[in-house]
Amino acid sequence: MGLLFVQSLRGPKVFKCKHCKVVSASSDAIVSKDFRGRHGRAYLFDSVVNVSFGPNEDRHLMTGWHTVNDIYCICCQQLLGWRYVS
Ligand SMILES: [Zn+2]
Repeated sequence: MGLLFVQSLRGPKVFKCKHCKVVSASSDAIVSKDFRGRHGRAYLFDSVVNVSFGPNEDRHLMTGWHTVNDIYCICCQQLLGWRYVS
C-alpha cells in the first residue's frame, strides 16, 4: 500500500467526512443547496477533494435517467454522496 495524499482546504467553512473528519469540500464550492438525496437534504458542489469514485451506474433520479457514480472518502472509504457523469 502506498502513501495516502490528503489535500487540505481553507475557508470560512469546510465540509468533512463525518466518520474520519478529513475535509472533502469548501462552502465556496457549493453550486446549489436545493437537492434531495436518498437520505435527505443534499448539496451540489463544483469541486471536492480527498474522494474516490465508484463505477458508473445508470440511475433513475427525480429529473430522469442519469449516469452517476458514488463518491467515497479517500481515507475511510465511507460513502459521501454521488456525482453526475452525464
Ligand atoms: Zn472518512
